[in-house]
Amino acid sequence: MKITVRHLSKIYGSGENKVTALNDASFDIASRDFISVMGPSGSGKSTLLHLISGLDKPTAGTVLYDGLDIHRGNDKELSAFRRQRIGFIFQQFHLLPVLSAKENIIMPLLLDKKDPDEVYVSEVADLLGIGDRLTHLPGELSGGQQQRVAIARALIAKPDIIFADEPTGNLDSRSGSEVMRMLCDIRERLGKTIVVITHDSRIANMADRRFTIADGALTEVTAS
Ligand code: ADP
Repeated sequence: MKITVRHLSKIYGSGENKVTALNDASFDIASRDFISVMGPSGSGKSTLLHLISGLDKPTAGTVLYDGLDIHRGNDKELSAFRRQRIGFIFQQFHLLPVLSAKENIIMPLLLDKKDPDEVYVSEVADLLGIGDRLTHLPGELSGGQQQRVAIARALIAKPDIIFADEPTGNLDSRSGSEVMRMLCDIRERLGKTIVVITHDSRIANMADRRFTIADGALTEVTAS
């Protein structure tokens, strides 16, 4: 799957309160890319992520997935598209505390009234090193393990691409590096595309293609 971003901008407010959160970003994402976007707080990282994942609409510009403009459809089509094609990982793991790790992982399928593929659940859990933790509640797991459960949940619908918003922000540096290595494995073994947003240069440097963003201006650092 190829993502084509052209002249993407987002302006909040008007007059004196006008903020250009993203200013004319154009780039392509190829299948299996491992991308980081680094910038300080308020630089436009979340805005970019929300626009390219269809969580928010741009002021100008287009986001095409295999040629299809994701912002053209209605909200229902867009949310179905997100559930099927995109996995999300957040800084706060957003696990439901009363459900086991496995129940949390398969929750998105239950919401879509689909049965889990047990072989795939085991494969993903083993890949993430949580195969022996599936009956545990989130409160019984370390931060790093909880984030791995959240990664498994992001993968359960077999999406093409994973967007991770500060996935290591709540972890110590060792667990953070581990989570990044897992994302790298997922790209290699499952063939997924990974986009990670971070303010941490050490995390950003683990990706193959690195972008920086400052005051809404996006630049690829690794561009040849
Ligand atoms: P980051 O994720 O890098 O911290 P954001 O994308 O959240 O940055 O924000 C970029 C800029 O846009 C900031 O100046 C922020 O204050 C502004 N912004 C973000 N969301 C809104 C909003 N809903 N309304 C007004 N301004 C916003």
